[in-house]
Amino acid sequence: MIDVKQNITDLKRSIPDGTRLVAVSKTKPADMIQQAYDAGQRLFGENKALEMRDKHQSLPHDIEWHFVGHLQTNKIKYIIQYVSLIHSIDSLSLLQAVNKEAAKHERVVDCLLQFHIAQEETKFGLDQAECEELMNHYGELSNVRIVGVMGMATKTDDMEQVRREFRNLHNIFDSLKASRFADKPEFKEISMGMSHDWQIAVEEGSTLIRLGSSIFGARDYGVQVNDV
Ligand SMILES: *Cc1c(COP(=O)(O)O)cnc(C)c1O
Repeated sequence: MIDVKQNITDLKRSIPDGTRLVAVSKTKPADMIQQAYDAGQRLFGENKALEMRDKHQSLPHDIEWHFVGHLQTNKIKYIIQYVSLIHSIDSLSLLQAVNKEAAKHERVVDCLLQFHIAQEETKFGLDQAECEELMNHYGELSNVRIVGVMGMATKTDDMEQVRREFRNLHNIFDSLKASRFADKPEFKEISMGMSHDWQIAVEEGSTLIRLGSSIFGARDYGVQVNDV
């Protein structure tokens, strides 16, 4: 039996001040999210736009919804009115598209730049050159606000490798902070750490950990599909 409430309570006790818990509820039903909510959790993450829209409609409206997955341009419209943070900006064109949709609703939407820090080819994320290009156009976009960085480590049992990858993301954050965001106090988030590696992420300076299975139990996708 998964005890969502207990899991939230235990996690909140072990997560230090300065790190926030994003409960990644993808594939999980609304009643499990409600259990986490009843335990005091207000921050939830989803990785599919339509799933997030449906859950947003049926669940309490003081939930802060974070989008953590690969975001397709044509799906932005389903989340743009209420999303509180998009973790997964992985191209200039996506940032421009989010900006355009946000402008329609007169919002300024907070975003993180997702970096490719893992050795796996399949993971999404910017490299340094793409980041430079994106930053050179950021000034033109008044309906998005970049508040930090995000990354996913390689899925491996080699925890030293995971640590190196998180450290690399922290270094990317530091150099961006110095070169582009020195006068921007809102640029302060480092989103890293999932169920199997969040303790290391916290040690390496994570401000947002994204936990799914350690709260809600393993996900059952039926047939194995690409986790995008
Ligand atoms: C699914 C997902 C998570 C949570 O994964 P767990 O291993 O279940 O904690 C975190 N971040 C992203 C981007 C995800 O897609």
